[in-house]
Amino acid sequence: MKLRSSLLVAASLLPLITMAADKPGYTDTPQLPGQKWRVHDADRPQPRIVTPGASFSQGAPAPSDAVVLFDGKDLSKWTKDGEPAPWKVANGYMEVVGKSGSIQTKEKFGSFQLHLEYATPNPPHGDSQARANSGVFLHGLYEVQVLDCYNNPTYPDGTVGCIYGQWPPLANAAKPPGEWHSYDIIFEAPKVEGGKVVTPAHVTVILNGVVAQHRKEIIGPVRHREVASYEANTPTTGPIGLQDHGDPVRFRNIWVRPLGEYDKP
Ligand code: MG
Repeated sequence: MKLRSSLLVAASLLPLITMAADKPGYTDTPQLPGQKWRVHDADRPQPRIVTPGASFSQGAPAPSDAVVLFDGKDLSKWTKDGEPAPWKVANGYMEVVGKSGSIQTKEKFGSFQLHLEYATPNPPHGDSQARANSGVFLHGLYEVQVLDCYNNPTYPDGTVGCIYGQWPPLANAAKPPGEWHSYDIIFEAPKVEGGKVVTPAHVTVILNGVVAQHRKEIIGPVRHREVASYEANTPTTGPIGLQDHGDPVRFRNIWVRPLGEYDKP
Protein backbone atom coordinates (compact mmCIF):
# COMPACT_ATOMS: atom_id res chain seq x y z
CA MET A 1 0.00 0.00 0.00
CA LYS A 2 2.79 2.32 0.94
CA LEU A 3 4.66 1.60 -2.29
CA ARG A 4 1.49 2.04 -4.27
CA SER A 5 0.76 5.50 -2.80
CA SER A 6 4.29 6.72 -3.44
CA LEU A 7 3.99 5.50 -7.01
CA LEU A 8 0.77 7.47 -7.31
CA VAL A 9 2.49 10.58 -5.96
CA ALA A 10 5.37 10.09 -8.39
CA ALA A 11 2.92 9.63 -11.27
CA SER A 12 1.01 12.78 -10.35
CA LEU A 13 4.24 14.84 -10.24
CA LEU A 14 5.38 13.67 -13.65
CA PRO A 15 3.34 16.13 -15.75
CA LEU A 16 4.59 19.05 -13.62
CA ILE A 17 8.21 18.05 -14.07
CA THR A 18 7.73 17.62 -17.81
CA MET A 19 6.10 21.04 -18.08
CA ALA A 20 8.93 22.68 -16.18
CA ALA A 21 11.48 21.02 -18.47
CA ASP A 22 9.63 22.40 -21.51
CA LYS A 23 9.95 25.97 -20.27
CA PRO A 24 13.46 27.42 -20.32
CA GLY A 25 14.31 29.59 -17.37
CA TYR A 26 14.54 29.46 -13.63
CA THR A 27 12.24 29.04 -10.65
CA ASP A 28 14.87 29.64 -7.94
CA THR A 29 16.05 33.15 -8.78
CA PRO A 30 15.24 36.31 -6.78
CA GLN A 31 12.17 38.38 -7.50
CA LEU A 32 12.54 41.51 -9.60
CA PRO A 33 11.74 44.70 -7.67
CA GLY A 34 8.31 46.09 -8.57
CA GLN A 35 7.48 43.06 -10.71
CA LYS A 36 5.74 39.82 -9.86
CA TRP A 37 8.35 37.79 -11.73
CA ARG A 38 11.69 36.32 -10.87
CA VAL A 39 14.91 37.00 -12.79
CA HIS A 40 14.75 34.77 -15.93
CA ASP A 41 11.36 33.48 -14.73
CA ALA A 42 10.37 30.28 -16.54
CA ASP A 43 6.70 31.01 -15.84
CA ARG A 44 6.68 34.58 -17.17
CA PRO A 45 4.43 34.92 -20.26
CA GLN A 46 6.24 34.69 -23.58
CA PRO A 47 6.24 37.84 -25.76
CA ARG A 48 3.90 37.58 -28.70
CA ILE A 49 5.47 36.68 -32.02
CA VAL A 50 5.26 39.35 -34.70
CA THR A 51 6.42 38.93 -38.28
CA PRO A 52 8.25 42.16 -39.11
CA GLY A 53 7.85 44.14 -42.30
CA ALA A 54 10.22 43.58 -45.17
CA SER A 55 13.37 45.63 -44.56
CA PHE A 56 12.88 48.39 -42.01
CA SER A 57 15.67 50.95 -42.46
CA GLN A 58 18.19 48.26 -43.39
CA GLY A 59 21.25 49.31 -45.31
CA ALA A 60 20.17 52.95 -45.20
CA PRO A 61 22.93 55.57 -45.04
CA ALA A 62 23.57 57.22 -41.67
CA PRO A 63 21.99 60.64 -40.96
CA SER A 64 24.26 63.61 -41.63
CA ASP A 65 25.15 64.23 -37.98
CA ALA A 66 25.75 60.59 -37.02
CA VAL A 67 29.05 59.15 -35.82
CA VAL A 68 29.64 56.14 -38.06
CA LEU A 69 31.00 53.35 -35.85
CA PHE A 70 31.29 50.67 -38.53
CA ASP A 71 30.97 51.19 -42.27
CA GLY A 72 31.83 47.63 -43.25
CA LYS A 73 35.54 48.25 -43.83
CA ASP A 74 37.47 48.16 -40.55
CA LEU A 75 37.29 48.10 -36.75
CA SER A 76 39.23 51.31 -36.22
CA LYS A 77 36.48 52.73 -33.96
CA TRP A 78 36.53 49.61 -31.76
CA THR A 79 38.82 48.11 -29.15
CA LYS A 80 39.18 45.29 -26.69
CA ASP A 81 40.77 46.56 -23.48
CA GLY A 82 42.83 49.14 -25.31
CA GLU A 83 44.06 46.64 -27.90
CA PRO A 84 42.83 46.29 -31.50
CA ALA A 85 39.40 44.66 -31.75
CA PRO A 86 40.04 40.96 -32.58
CA TRP A 87 36.92 40.24 -34.64
CA LYS A 88 36.78 39.32 -38.33
CA VAL A 89 35.81 41.83 -41.03
CA ALA A 90 34.63 40.52 -44.42
CA ASN A 91 32.10 41.40 -47.11
CA GLY A 92 30.91 44.54 -45.34
CA TYR A 93 30.25 43.00 -41.95
CA MET A 94 32.13 42.25 -38.75
CA GLU A 95 31.79 38.83 -37.15
CA VAL A 96 32.31 37.70 -33.58
CA VAL A 97 35.38 35.50 -33.25
CA GLY A 98 34.30 33.19 -30.46
CA LYS A 99 36.31 33.44 -27.23
CA SER A 100 38.34 36.38 -28.57
CA GLY A 101 36.43 38.72 -26.26
CA SER A 102 33.76 41.39 -26.35
CA ILE A 103 34.57 44.70 -28.03
CA GLN A 104 33.70 48.32 -27.29
CA THR A 105 33.79 51.66 -29.03
CA LYS A 106 36.85 53.76 -28.26
CA GLU A 107 34.58 56.77 -27.90
CA LYS A 108 32.22 57.24 -24.95
CA PHE A 109 28.69 58.57 -25.21
CA GLY A 110 26.03 59.92 -22.86
CA SER A 111 22.49 59.64 -24.22
CA PHE A 112 22.23 58.53 -27.82
CA GLN A 113 20.31 57.08 -30.73
CA LEU A 114 21.97 53.92 -32.06
CA HIS A 115 21.38 51.98 -35.24
CA LEU A 116 22.92 48.61 -36.07
CA GLU A 117 22.13 45.51 -38.07
CA TYR A 118 22.94 41.92 -37.20
CA ALA A 119 22.55 38.42 -38.62
CA THR A 120 22.74 35.06 -36.86
CA PRO A 121 24.17 31.86 -38.37
CA ASN A 122 22.15 29.77 -40.79
CA PRO A 123 21.74 26.88 -40.19
CA PRO A 124 21.30 27.62 -36.49
CA HIS A 125 23.17 25.81 -33.74
CA GLY A 126 22.16 25.25 -30.13
CA ASP A 127 18.99 26.06 -28.22
CA SER A 128 17.65 28.76 -25.92
CA GLN A 129 20.51 31.05 -24.78
CA ALA A 130 23.07 28.98 -26.68
CA ARG A 131 21.71 29.92 -30.12
CA ALA A 132 23.58 32.87 -31.63
CA ASN A 133 23.92 34.82 -28.41
CA SER A 134 25.50 38.26 -28.50
CA GLY A 135 24.37 41.60 -27.16
CA VAL A 136 24.51 45.36 -27.37
CA PHE A 137 26.02 46.80 -24.19
CA LEU A 138 24.89 50.36 -23.56
CA HIS A 139 27.60 52.28 -21.67
CA GLY A 140 29.29 48.85 -21.61
CA LEU A 141 26.93 47.93 -18.74
CA TYR A 142 23.32 47.40 -19.81
CA GLU A 143 22.53 44.59 -22.26
CA VAL A 144 19.97 44.67 -25.03
CA GLN A 145 20.00 41.01 -26.04
CA VAL A 146 20.99 39.67 -29.43
CA LEU A 147 19.82 36.06 -29.84
CA ASP A 148 18.33 33.92 -32.59
CA CYS A 149 14.75 33.73 -31.27
CA TYR A 150 13.15 32.37 -34.43
CA ASN A 151 11.48 29.13 -33.34
CA ASN A 152 13.82 29.08 -30.35
CA PRO A 153 12.06 29.36 -27.00
CA THR A 154 14.02 30.88 -24.15
CA TYR A 155 13.11 32.67 -20.95
CA PRO A 156 11.18 35.87 -21.70
CA ASP A 157 13.68 38.30 -20.13
CA GLY A 158 16.42 36.73 -22.26
CA THR A 159 14.56 37.02 -25.58
CA VAL A 160 15.93 39.20 -28.38
CA GLY A 161 14.78 42.77 -27.72
CA CYS A 162 14.86 42.30 -23.95
CA ILE A 163 16.74 44.29 -21.38
CA TYR A 164 18.50 41.17 -20.19
CA GLY A 165 17.28 39.89 -16.86
CA GLN A 166 14.90 42.81 -16.39
CA TRP A 167 12.28 43.36 -19.11
CA PRO A 168 11.14 40.96 -21.85
CA PRO A 169 10.43 42.57 -25.21
CA LEU A 170 6.88 43.71 -25.95
CA ALA A 171 7.05 41.44 -29.01
CA ASN A 172 9.37 38.85 -30.50
CA ALA A 173 10.03 40.30 -33.98
CA ALA A 174 12.83 37.89 -34.90
CA LYS A 175 13.42 37.02 -38.53
CA PRO A 176 14.72 33.63 -39.69
CA PRO A 177 18.41 32.89 -39.07
CA GLY A 178 20.75 34.29 -41.70
CA GLU A 179 18.56 37.33 -42.44
CA TRP A 180 19.67 40.82 -41.46
CA HIS A 181 17.86 42.35 -38.51
CA SER A 182 17.85 46.03 -37.56
CA TYR A 183 18.05 47.51 -34.09
CA ASP A 184 17.19 51.13 -33.39
CA ILE A 185 17.88 52.02 -29.79
CA ILE A 186 17.29 55.31 -27.95
CA PHE A 187 19.24 55.36 -24.72
CA GLU A 188 18.90 57.97 -21.99
CA ALA A 189 21.92 57.95 -19.70
CA PRO A 190 21.41 57.79 -15.95
CA LYS A 191 21.64 61.05 -14.04
CA VAL A 192 23.97 60.99 -11.05
CA GLU A 193 24.25 63.54 -8.23
CA GLY A 194 26.69 63.23 -5.34
CA GLY A 195 27.65 59.75 -6.55
CA LYS A 196 24.02 58.50 -6.44
CA VAL A 197 21.78 57.67 -9.37
CA VAL A 198 18.89 60.15 -9.16
CA THR A 199 17.35 59.23 -12.51
CA PRO A 200 17.96 55.70 -13.80
CA ALA A 201 18.81 54.99 -17.41
CA HIS A 202 15.90 54.50 -19.80
CA VAL A 203 15.81 52.77 -23.15
CA THR A 204 13.55 52.46 -26.17
CA VAL A 205 14.27 49.54 -28.49
CA ILE A 206 12.86 48.92 -31.96
CA LEU A 207 13.65 45.57 -33.56
CA ASN A 208 12.95 45.24 -37.27
CA GLY A 209 10.51 48.16 -37.07
CA VAL A 210 8.60 46.66 -34.12
CA VAL A 211 8.70 48.29 -30.67
CA ALA A 212 10.36 45.95 -28.20
CA GLN A 213 10.90 48.42 -25.33
CA HIS A 214 9.23 51.79 -24.85
CA ARG A 215 11.25 54.06 -22.57
CA LYS A 216 11.79 51.32 -20.06
CA GLU A 217 13.65 52.00 -16.82
CA ILE A 218 16.90 50.06 -16.57
CA ILE A 219 17.35 48.90 -12.98
CA GLY A 220 21.12 48.48 -13.12
CA PRO A 221 24.04 46.84 -14.96
CA VAL A 222 23.28 43.43 -16.46
CA ARG A 223 23.31 40.41 -14.16
CA HIS A 224 22.74 36.69 -14.69
CA ARG A 225 20.42 35.03 -12.16
CA GLU A 226 20.69 38.09 -9.88
CA VAL A 227 18.79 41.33 -9.43
CA ALA A 228 20.60 44.26 -11.04
CA SER A 229 21.18 47.47 -9.11
CA TYR A 230 23.21 50.64 -9.57
CA GLU A 231 26.44 51.06 -7.71
CA ALA A 232 27.80 54.32 -6.33
CA ASN A 233 29.42 56.60 -8.90
CA THR A 234 27.67 54.96 -11.87
CA PRO A 235 29.18 56.57 -14.98
CA THR A 236 27.04 58.98 -16.99
CA THR A 237 28.92 58.25 -20.20
CA GLY A 238 30.33 55.03 -21.56
CA PRO A 239 31.19 53.02 -24.65
CA ILE A 240 28.88 50.94 -26.80
CA GLY A 241 29.85 47.27 -26.51
CA LEU A 242 29.16 44.16 -28.56
CA GLN A 243 29.23 40.83 -26.78
CA ASP A 244 31.31 37.76 -27.56
CA HIS A 245 29.18 34.92 -26.19
CA GLY A 246 31.03 32.37 -28.32
CA ASP A 247 28.73 32.52 -31.36
CA PRO A 248 29.67 33.91 -34.84
CA VAL A 249 27.05 36.69 -35.01
CA ARG A 250 27.57 39.34 -37.70
CA PHE A 251 27.08 43.11 -37.44
CA ARG A 252 27.00 45.89 -40.03
CA ASN A 253 25.90 49.50 -40.60
CA ILE A 254 26.48 50.80 -37.07
CA TRP A 255 26.04 54.49 -36.32
CA VAL A 256 25.20 56.63 -33.33
CA ARG A 257 23.73 60.10 -32.84
CA PRO A 258 24.65 61.60 -29.46
CA LEU A 259 21.65 63.23 -27.72
CA GLY A 260 23.43 65.63 -25.42
CA GLU A 261 20.17 67.53 -24.90
CA TYR A 262 19.00 64.70 -22.61
CA ASP A 263 22.13 64.92 -20.48
CA LYS A 264 21.65 68.51 -19.36
CA PRO A 265 20.37 69.00 -15.81
MG1 MG B 1 23.78 38.19 -24.83
